[in-house]
Amino acid sequence: MLPVGTMEDEEGPEYGKPDFVLLDQLTMEDFMKNLQLRFEKGRIYTYIGEVLVSVNPYQELPLYGPEAIAKYQGRELYERPPHLYAVANAAYKAMKRRSRDTCIVISGESGAGKTEASKHIMQYIAAVTNPSQRAEVERVKDVLLKSTCVLEAFGNARTNRNHNSSRFGKYMDINFDFKGDPVGGHIHSYLLEKLLRGSEDQELQRLHLERNPAMALDSDEKSYQGVMDAMRIIGFSPEEVESAHRILAAILHLGNIEFVEAEENGPQKGGLAVADETLVGYVATLTATPRDLVLRTLLARTVASGGREVIEKSHTVAEASYARDACAKAMYQRLFEWVVDKINGIMEPRGRDPRRDGKDTVIGVLDIYGFEVFPVNRNFEQFCINYCNEKLQQLFIQLILKQEQEEYEREGIAWQTIEYFNNATIVELVEQPRRGILAVLDEACSTAGPITDRIFLQTLDTHHRHHPHYSSRQLCPTDKTMEFGRDFQIKHYAGDVTYSVEGFIDKNRDSLFQDFKRLLYNSMDPTLRAMWPDGQQDITEVTKRPLTAGTLFKNSMVALVENLASKPWLLEEPFYVRCIKPNEDKVAGRLDEAHCRHQVEYLGLLENVRVRRAGFASRQPYPRFLLRYKMTCEYTWPNHLLGSDREAVGALLEQHGLQGDVAFGHSKLFIRSPRTLVTLEQSRARL
Ligand code: ATP
Ligand code: MG
Repeated sequence: MLPVGTMEDEEGPEYGKPDFVLLDQLTMEDFMKNLQLRFEKGRIYTYIGEVLVSVNPYQELPLYGPEAIAKYQGRELYERPPHLYAVANAAYKAMKRRSRDTCIVISGESGAGKTEASKHIMQYIAAVTNPSQRAEVERVKDVLLKSTCVLEAFGNARTNRNHNSSRFGKYMDINFDFKGDPVGGHIHSYLLEKLLRGSEDQELQRLHLERNPAMALDSDEKSYQGVMDAMRIIGFSPEEVESAHRILAAILHLGNIEFVEAEENGPQKGGLAVADETLVGYVATLTATPRDLVLRTLLARTVASGGREVIEKSHTVAEASYARDACAKAMYQRLFEWVVDKINGIMEPRGRDPRRDGKDTVIGVLDIYGFEVFPVNRNFEQFCINYCNEKLQQLFIQLILKQEQEEYEREGIAWQTIEYFNNATIVELVEQPRRGILAVLDEACSTAGPITDRIFLQTLDTHHRHHPHYSSRQLCPTDKTMEFGRDFQIKHYAGDVTYSVEGFIDKNRDSLFQDFKRLLYNSMDPTLRAMWPDGQQDITEVTKRPLTAGTLFKNSMVALVENLASKPWLLEEPFYVRCIKPNEDKVAGRLDEAHCRHQVEYLGLLENVRVRRAGFASRQPYPRFLLRYKMTCEYTWPNHLLGSDREAVGALLEQHGLQGDVAFGHSKLFIRSPRTLVTLEQSRARL
């Protein structure tokens, strides 16, 4: 177990360096030693400039709560030991001071502590805002905090790597009014991994839905009840909560339905039958649809046979099972999307002053599923998740490393170029038009005849046989970790991952027979009905091929990255939390050196420190710097009479004896050490 650090402890030398930038030597060994030392002393947070590195302690540490919040409130980043609250506070102040949008990007692999970090950030913001207790603001804060619990209940699952793993990416905007109080919010969710696998109901048991012979579910369980209560409190109507509850139960029963070949001389006269028809009855009751129709939809589908002719085509056992699973998954996904939409409606900023419309400022918090580094046997969902991480890594490279270097060049500051691995070529391998993996997959899915996984894989091989980040067993027969004709491997920036192509085509095509959509659209339950507007279409009208799952995901990733890159503040002063998972066993207080070193490598943290060290902790345009500190110097207060702002800044720094710690760019001042800023802030505060 970790010794329990308290907030009272200052950051003495025995705790290592609170900022990796301050290390005497910068090698991987030094970095790891510092990380380890701090971790052993219960110091899970360390800075790299303004980037916060966080190691999951896997135990409750007394670092959070109102008392700790008070210590960080209104302070500068370096005045207190590194903490998420300091980052939340810095982002909040940055947003407020300059009325500009900002955002906090939280990254790291599964189980590294991203979701926990985002919750602490939200709690901090909720705690420090609305001093005047305005009712509307309190309502918004309450919804912001409680929505997390509801979304987790629907969107998280127990995996090997994390017992409470987010299976969806979440980008949450919090809107602030001109006073700096939260007045609304908006959630974008990305790829909910469709959780149900066949009739396995373990995921639903998270919600404590247990099989029950009656139509109702065992809802005595506290946490399940907690979720339903939270839904009601944040503004779902009792009928809506009831519908959600019934839909979940219907999905569970649907997943348990089995198909059998009917007896030759039984009532079905051969063909297909359902093993236990009572389940069909439950599904019908819970979805408020006619029982006969449910049964028919499960056993056969209608197809347009030219013109307005429609015929019924019986399923095989395999087809029916596939269709059942597709329906259960789609119901779950639509339910999740409905929950997100509903929460967004509730958080929509209300009662805006029209003159101030559009003047809200926003802090975005991005908590997105981590890289899935397990090397073998990954499937389509992990492929999407890893692609997403590649996209974010690229953004990180572009913003932090590339732009930083470019800025130094632009400003005429002496600077040594730093080598870094640019993963653009991997992103391209996935998303490039026509030849990229997603494009090849779409092509395979649009082929009318039966297309096999093997053909898909062969096409990939043809296109990418020379790609440095792609391989398969066919191309590299010596690689025993892969199977012939089933796997391909991508060398991701975070490591090599082998994907099994099995299921890629089905999952990407993601087709759900129109019969199911129509069935649910015709439900008597208005909530369920509203989730299926596309069920309205007649089979003869359904000709347009819907976008594939992969393409939809790619589009949402492109939009996400564009949205993040459009935050002007992100370019100037990014807020990043880089989470590290200390060990694979979820054990408290144990930091596995090799495991962490790998993460430090692929998160590019060492490069990050190098850039910072060679570089500067802060940079500010001269006029902005003067605006903030001119009162601390007789030559600059109230206005300077020197030739230029640059000269005035020089005079000011000289008076404080700080001129040795800065570099003068063409338009900006570059400050090397954070302490310089603290000194300036203190002398400003003394006035
Ligand atoms: P995923 O990508 O799978 O969603 P994640 O990075 O969001 O993973 P979390 O769910 O935030 O990971 O963290 C996993 C678990 O680690 C938590 O359920 C909690 O038990 C523990 N944990 C994380 N951060 C902390 C913390 N600061 N203090 C105590 N425990 C923590
Ligand atoms: Mg998570």
